[in-house]
Amino acid sequence: SDRIETAEDVGGREKPKAKVTRSIVFVTAEAAPYSKTGGLGDVCGSLPVVLAGRGHRVMVVSPRYLTGSPADKKFSGAIDVGHTNVICFGGEQEVAFFHEYREGVDWVFVDHPSFHRPGNPYGDSFGAFGDNQFRFTLLSHAACEAPLVLPLGGYTYGQNCLFLVNDWHAGLVPLLLAAKYRPHGVYTDARSVLIIHNLAHQGVESAVTYKNLGLPAEWYGALEWVFPEWARAHALDRGEAVNILKGAVVTTDRILTVSEGYAWEITTVEGGYGLNGLLSSRKSVLNGITNGIDVVEWDPSSDKHIASHYSANDLSGKVECKIALQKELGLPIRPDCPLIGFIGRLDYQKGIDLIQSGIPELMSEDVQFVMLGSGDVQCQDWMRLAEATYKDKFRGWVGFNVPVSHRITAGCDILLMPSRFEPCGLNQLYAMRYGTIPVVHSTGGLRDTVVNFNPYAEGGGEGTGWTFSPLTKESMLAALRLAIRTYKEYKPSWDGLMKRGMGKDFTWESAAIQYEQVFEWAFIDPP
Ligand code: ADP
Repeated sequence: SDRIETAEDVGGREKPKAKVTRSIVFVTAEAAPYSKTGGLGDVCGSLPVVLAGRGHRVMVVSPRYLTGSPADKKFSGAIDVGHTNVICFGGEQEVAFFHEYREGVDWVFVDHPSFHRPGNPYGDSFGAFGDNQFRFTLLSHAACEAPLVLPLGGYTYGQNCLFLVNDWHAGLVPLLLAAKYRPHGVYTDARSVLIIHNLAHQGVESAVTYKNLGLPAEWYGALEWVFPEWARAHALDRGEAVNILKGAVVTTDRILTVSEGYAWEITTVEGGYGLNGLLSSRKSVLNGITNGIDVVEWDPSSDKHIASHYSANDLSGKVECKIALQKELGLPIRPDCPLIGFIGRLDYQKGIDLIQSGIPELMSEDVQFVMLGSGDVQCQDWMRLAEATYKDKFRGWVGFNVPVSHRITAGCDILLMPSRFEPCGLNQLYAMRYGTIPVVHSTGGLRDTVVNFNPYAEGGGEGTGWTFSPLTKESMLAALRLAIRTYKEYKPSWDGLMKRGMGKDFTWESAAIQYEQVFEWAFIDPP
């Protein structure tokens, strides 16, 4: 059966070691703390450390982004350990490898001038970079060379490794294994697992770019992309195209998504972004594992970013955090007023349009609202306008700021996530750990991780928040009003919600055991 073993199956032993240890190579566009725009960075920053702790040899290969800002000093611990030439885009591209051994993991950074520019990993205020296909082609080629050529700690990872291919940016890796290396007897025993964090981005470019990717001509069919109906409907049809994620889906040994709910959703027309048919055909190798969180970075009893520490046993510090946040934001200091937060990329995916349309009604309630995010420029402008309109109630923080995200998570009473779709979602997990009650659209990982509160169940049932559906302003507001009312009038229920959320185990240990199961399947099943 395809049931995945969990921590409970092994009797909840303390830090169990892996039954079989592997050489694992993460390939990713982001790895926190070096680079992060969202959940991908969090996962690739924390899961490698946990797997290394369980006895695996773990390398993470990601770009060495130099943006010309003070944040670049994060890379200063990594030293130059060699270089390789990548043949792609009509020439030989020299890339260098930088390396830092930290927390048991080999962090390898691919260095090339195209990774040196202001902005985030994918773009700047003018939009996405035009050469992302080139940049991530370099990353994938270099990542395939790293285990062969880098004598990390004295010896290379070698050929029998397992590649963890994260999203489309790393998607050429399984194709390169199949088309470039295996015909020459290299990597014949290596395996790959594609991890889909967000199917909405697939690395689609015009078909003429195929020749740039460094793949033999006869592999074109693996990437060939005929736009399905929905793409035409969304005016995304760019004619004949290549789709890197599609190529990865058809050549990888196993496929994983970041929650079970999302593993199912991507096989449906609504959630499949044109790949649902292919993903359905590979259902026998598709699983979902809910992300864990870094419980050291996100711990209300020791968080260095927040005003006062607290735990489920002594919640008094939480109100201190709320007061400090109200002070910081210049909101009226009112410990009794429900404070609602939103943190996230300002993107259609996150349901920001729902928030915008719901705010006028929500602001007629006795509440405060704080929104932290960057992205959609129109939404950023709207946040500034809303702040001026609702002076005593609304604050919009435009930007990407990790310490502020911790202070909002700790200081708010309610965290709103009206995501249109959400592969896993991390903020609701952080919120529960901080006694902040999530109100979420019932989708993907949000539905898997937030249990809807039922006040009529004995002792309030198992609820840890509110899940609403359908995705409309009305159902979002109804859920928020229930939350506000519970906060104001039913303190015992609220305390129960907080304590249950804070008591949940969101550590990576249980997810790591499930990952290992999938790794073994990758080696057992014929490729
Ligand atoms: P996604 O990967 O789709 O962006 P997730 O919920 O999986 O969504 O992960 C988002 C991560 O990015 C969380 O760690 C969240 O706190 C962080 N984040 C998002 N926007 C901001 C911001 N403006 N400032 C600080 N952190 C942010």
